[in-house]
Amino acid sequence: MPALFSHSVRPHASVLFITLHGLASTLTPRLTTVASSELADISLELQLVNLRPNTPDSRLCRYTNKKPSNKGFYVNSFRHLQTDEQARAVWSNAAPLECKIFNWLARRHRLPTNDRQHRHNMTPSPVCPSCSLDEDVDHLLVNCFRAREVWRFFSNGGASPSSFLDLWSSRCRSPADTTICMAILWNIWKRRNALVFNAKDEPCLLSQKNALRTFVYGPINVIIPLLPPL
Ligand SMILES: [Zn+2]
Repeated sequence: MPALFSHSVRPHASVLFITLHGLASTLTPRLTTVASSELADISLELQLVNLRPNTPDSRLCRYTNKKPSNKGFYVNSFRHLQTDEQARAVWSNAAPLECKIFNWLARRHRLPTNDRQHRHNMTPSPVCPSCSLDEDVDHLLVNCFRAREVWRFFSNGGASPSSFLDLWSSRCRSPADTTICMAILWNIWKRRNALVFNAKDEPCLLSQKNALRTFVYGPINVIIPLLPPL
């Protein structure tokens, strides 16, 4: 009831006061058409309210039925958005924070790939810096030949992931697995940036070693034996 609230002269009036004196007693004498309509609607609803006179007023959030809090307002502000089922996997693992942020942006398709930059008129071409295909998140992190050679190494003889989504559903089933995947993705991205920004064509082996270092510097040395030897 935003229009009606803008006409209020007693915004903190209690429910008991309003029930005894009427809602109109807390409003300016002249209401706009919209505010009058809102007043009629809320007056109808108030007729159904049964007050318990000895119970003090308490404010409750409409959606959580709990006391208003920053968390409640935050959750309510984003309740219209779809929940990412992998969000917990991205944030609850042993990877370094910058690695988590990178992977979250990748999942949201917010990485500044050439494809995305081109769509925002920030670069003249959407093409991958390493081949002739468009560089979107799938291509950059999974399908480009430079990404595939890194994945081949870490797949240990098994199949490489077929897409970025497939990677999350098939390989990120535990916090340790997720940490490994995120460190690999992070280092594929860094290898790409070395090429784009420093004109350095780093060998695949360096990405593999850097990915391993990302694990080692995290608090999960225990997973090292799970990895193939260099
Ligand atoms: Zn490519």
